[in-house]
Amino acid sequence: MTEQQCPWCGGRDFVEAKHLPYQNVAAKSAVVGLTGRASLCYTVCRDCGTVVRTYVDDLSKVRRWR
Ligand SMILES: [Zn+2]
Repeated sequence: MTEQQCPWCGGRDFVEAKHLPYQNVAAKSAVVGLTGRASLCYTVCRDCGTVVRTYVDDLSKVRRWR
């Protein structure tokens, strides 16, 4: 992983976090179904709790979204 720095406190200690099941994100155009949903993940600063990155962990799903 590339070196990152918290934009809020300058900290460099991060933890990966994940949304709990059933709190998913999908493309606005998607018909909600099992194939259209992917989990949201976060990178969180351990020093101040700022979420420095929000992303979807399943790129194969994202790339099918239109
Ligand atoms: Zn921070």
